[in-house]
Amino acid sequence: MSELTTGSFSIGDLENVQITINNIVGAIDKQMEKSDEEMGPTPKPGVSSLRDWDHTIFERYNPIYTPMCDQCCYCTFGPCDLSGNKEGACGINLEAHNAREFMLRVMTGAAAHSGHGRHLLHHMIDLYGKDYPLDVGPTNIIAPNVQAVTGIKPETLGDLDIVLNYVEEQLTQLLAAVHAGQEGAAIDFESKAMHGGMIDHVGMEVSDIVQISCLGFPKSDANPPLADIGMGCIDPSKPNLIVIGHNVAAVTDIIDYMEDNDLSDKIELGGLCCTALDMTRYKMDGSAEDQVPKAKIIGSLAKELKMIRSGAPDVIVVDEQCIRADVLPEAQKLMIPVITTNDKVMYGLKDRSNDDVEDILADLTSGKEPGALLLDFEKVGEIAPRLAMMMSEIRKQKGIKALPTEEELKDQVDKCVHCLACEIACPDNLPISEAMKLAKEGDFTKFEWIHDKCIGCGRCEFACPKDIDIVNVIEKSSQKLIRNEIGKVRAGRGPISDPEIREEGVNLVLGTTPGIVAMVGCSNYPDGTKDLFDIAKEMLQRNYIVVVSGCSAMDLGMYKDEDGLTLYEKYPAKFKSGGLINVGSCVSNAHITAAVIKVAAIFAQKQVSGNYEELADYSLNRVGAVGVAWGAYSQKAASIGTGCSRLGIPVILGPHGSKYRRALIAKPYEDQKWNVYDARDGSEMKIPAAPEFLLTTCETIEEMMPMLAKSCIRPSDNNMGRMIKLTHYIELSQKYLGVMPDDWQNYVRMETDLPLAKRQELLKILEEEHGWEIDWKRKKILSGPVMKSDVSAQPTNLKRLCKEA
Ligand code: SF4
Ligand code: SF4
Ligand code: SF4
Repeated sequence: MSELTTGSFSIGDLENVQITINNIVGAIDKQMEKSDEEMGPTPKPGVSSLRDWDHTIFERYNPIYTPMCDQCCYCTFGPCDLSGNKEGACGINLEAHNAREFMLRVMTGAAAHSGHGRHLLHHMIDLYGKDYPLDVGPTNIIAPNVQAVTGIKPETLGDLDIVLNYVEEQLTQLLAAVHAGQEGAAIDFESKAMHGGMIDHVGMEVSDIVQISCLGFPKSDANPPLADIGMGCIDPSKPNLIVIGHNVAAVTDIIDYMEDNDLSDKIELGGLCCTALDMTRYKMDGSAEDQVPKAKIIGSLAKELKMIRSGAPDVIVVDEQCIRADVLPEAQKLMIPVITTNDKVMYGLKDRSNDDVEDILADLTSGKEPGALLLDFEKVGEIAPRLAMMMSEIRKQKGIKALPTEEELKDQVDKCVHCLACEIACPDNLPISEAMKLAKEGDFTKFEWIHDKCIGCGRCEFACPKDIDIVNVIEKSSQKLIRNEIGKVRAGRGPISDPEIREEGVNLVLGTTPGIVAMVGCSNYPDGTKDLFDIAKEMLQRNYIVVVSGCSAMDLGMYKDEDGLTLYEKYPAKFKSGGLINVGSCVSNAHITAAVIKVAAIFAQKQVSGNYEELADYSLNRVGAVGVAWGAYSQKAASIGTGCSRLGIPVILGPHGSKYRRALIAKPYEDQKWNVYDARDGSEMKIPAAPEFLLTTCETIEEMMPMLAKSCIRPSDNNMGRMIKLTHYIELSQKYLGVMPDDWQNYVRMETDLPLAKRQELLKILEEEHGWEIDWKRKKILSGPVMKSDVSAQPTNLKRLCKEA
């Protein structure tokens, strides 16, 4: 510090120094002032700070690798053949390289979320200033992930700036470790991946808190409005303005312009992917009288190409993430101008941000330019709706035709030679050739069936030697179906409020609410979208709390039950047993981990600030929660899932998830791995093999259903809780697999753990098949269980938390 007072600086230097000092001093002050609790051991952890926790996790949950490729081509020494776990020229082996590849995906996902957050935060600070207060609804812990990781309790936009500085520093350090000749051990790439996953939830939380606070999104609203969803809900007779991506900032200007200019009823504003979800949250915090969502949701990423090919959009606006790279050429074929609004996606278009609005409109309507890069959101707000109005007329006059006519459809179908090239190229091997055969005979039902399963990737078209526009054939054949694709989604409600946690926390920890099932992630489903509805319905009927976000939140709203209601209409949007909660877009996933942190904080009075390891330990041992990313495709899904892993929440991915290259799976039969400490006296205690994994994949939903119930079993369940969880586990196994699970007895500590309706029958099995001793008069288990039932036990993996005897 003495250098600061005695050195000489130019004014420019001084200003720089001052900014830096302000940030540091500001951050420390905030921690001191706002913290009404002690700081935990790891505020702002560095790459190695939580390594011991990771290694504790990996000790039980071993990384299992499924290499996608046995080569490495990172540097000019390579490409190196690493098959058979050989070493590359730099000495890295296949296992470590795969761990590095996994970690890189996690980091890319984390960077996408925090980059999104940074972009939003700069924009909102520009509009409202650094002192703008954060408000996410009734809570004392505005940002549980931020607080647990960094120790900062943010109150203003400016506080989040400090948080993102930390996130970005960590991401830089992690990315540096990917360079050739850095880390060499798989296990430490894994620990770094965990760090990236945890950081991701901080970045996501910042992103959503910014938009909830500044854009009038619902604030922990237990009854947010319903929005329309589906390709069928878009009115093709109106000018169509379609937005794709994740960053809603520019769209808010579009919505405002449309409202100010009386265009809201004249233009169909629809969105795809998370931007769509966030559009329906805009100005929905109850402050405005009008609580009708201001846009329609078309659907998930899988609908992008289909929507463009339908020819319905008159203008497409894109922002960032999960946008098809071929939007511009596909749109160009149908005279649809494309506006890019974010420097992450610019498609080679000219930057027109500083040009005159009328000039831009003239160039786009005349077709002189296929689109424009517009980084000025006010201009986007004005140009996009005006352009939609103009292009609608122009495209009508030009008679732009999208999907084939009936006759053209017949010609296309007739061209098929059934070579099966398309099916081999299709990621889900959909039976296109068979559908072509049936279509030749005038039966299009197989194409209708394919329509729901097809993720609209277009790979089949590239493979077809006859140049058949297969996607168009599927879509044209399914027109009737598509017109009826209309569902409902609850607008994303943001965080779970403190009162809700206070009410439900005890039930979750005792197990009487059987668990939280968080259905998140993308739309790369193995077998169509209906799986989502089926999973959610089953678990809701069983009184699990089902929390959803992103594409999963959208897709499960597309189906109705036997009463003609979507699950959103049927089940309350409250965080309680049997509630269905859409937290929001994919950045809102942070509210799911936040809810788990809040259970520990509010129900168990755990310290939050800088206390990540203890919170994760609590969650692993006590909070019955499981994530499902049935259609996970993106790097972001990898980082979200890995953030859950570090926090002790197991996650199940659909079968495509194996392409991420690694799972975290424990061996239930390794007895010594299932011991923890009892924090009361530091003694060792046995726990059930639950959860059995932290990240795994499943082939079918039949296989997954019982796993969901099993994954919510926790060591600290009381007898009633264990009985409820075991009932669901056994029933789901019998319902979906037709058999009793082969390990149910491992979760029985005493007779009151047994499902009530089957107690007699199960006691008999325990006696006859497992040799347990039963007192039949009192219907009591006398011997057999390896674990004791002790509700006041305090299971922990952390020796330091134990009172030594
Ligand atoms: S990083 Fe190592 S393994 Fe990869 S190409 Fe270079 S030398 Fe080969
Ligand atoms: S567009 Fe559909 S049918 Fe074609 S390859 Fe992709 S998923 Fe398969
Ligand atoms: S690749 Fe083309 S020609 Fe071959 S089966 Fe598929 S649609 Fe028919």
